[in-house]
Amino acid sequence: MAVSEFDIIERYFQWACARPEVIVGIGDDAAELAAESQRLLLDVSQIQEGREFAADQEPASAAHRLLAAASARLLARGATPLAFTLALSLPDADEAWLASFSQGLAGFARRQQLDLIGGDTTRGPRSAVIHLHGALAADRTPIPSRGAAPGDLIYLCGELGDGALAVLQAAGELQLVRADRERADRAWRFPDIRPECAGLGGGLASSATAITSTLAQDLQMLLDASGCGATLQVQQLPLGPALRNNLDRAGGWNIAMHGPALGALCFTVPASAQAEFEQRAARIEAPCAWVGMVDRNPGLRWQTDDGSAM
Ligand code: ADP
Ligand code: MG
Repeated sequence: MAVSEFDIIERYFQWACARPEVIVGIGDDAAELAAESQRLLLDVSQIQEGREFAADQEPASAAHRLLAAASARLLARGATPLAFTLALSLPDADEAWLASFSQGLAGFARRQQLDLIGGDTTRGPRSAVIHLHGALAADRTPIPSRGAAPGDLIYLCGELGDGALAVLQAAGELQLVRADRERADRAWRFPDIRPECAGLGGGLASSATAITSTLAQDLQMLLDASGCGATLQVQQLPLGPALRNNLDRAGGWNIAMHGPALGALCFTVPASAQAEFEQRAARIEAPCAWVGMVDRNPGLRWQTDDGSAM
């Protein structure tokens, strides 16, 4: 590489740390975190060119989505994401690629106050691995990723469908008006996460998952792991604004159920904790909607408000 590893780090991956837990960040042999009276949770996420992102995909978006998915997984456990490391493999020092990747990564990290504390850079096929560390007060129990039980209520925090609309538009299957196209594009390239939702389920939810593939797939996985099933009310699903404007043209509720989605959080809550959970959601003004019930029958069933099956 004409540009050295140190140049790359200094130019693209070094910015001021914001978290008091970070004692030593980039530049040292080992990063150092101090998290007194806190439990640490760790998410590892990897993307590879040609698999999780396309060679012609905007690197800023790939970086943002990588960090957003990792953050959502920690938030679903009730933890606050703090800091991450980045292991990069690059075929060459393509500065346009690096500048875009760095912009997407730093943009998300700054907004969510996540510090990049170290990493490694090697030559090879283009890929990125992050280890994202999150913390939870030591007297709090992380929300389990299995543990849903029949009778639990299901809540969804965040909106569905706008990112999936962008995929339909890109495939030429749908023509959106400009404002909706921009909303959908943004939702796909730079999806939001809801850090305020980290505190929502702690001590109340029986389980939670981040939606990082589709609502149907991620929820199904949680239910399978918990040994139960669920019935969802499609008309209660919280939709993004672009999908709300185009529901019929985009093929109806299907896109919210089965379309690619990233960032929403799904909680199962025992009936005994319902009132407290809803009060908490109202207090932090979380965009949180009741969407269905856990039951005994394995699998996911979808119905409309009048009770008819979809
Ligand atoms: P070398 O490979 O020359 O020994 P290091 O791998 O130790 O150098 O990297 C020097 C510093 O830069 C270390 O603090 C390391 O954590 C950090 N670093 C290396 N690559 C990255 C990267 N892609 N992103 C963030 N920090 C990095
Ligand atoms: Mg190195």
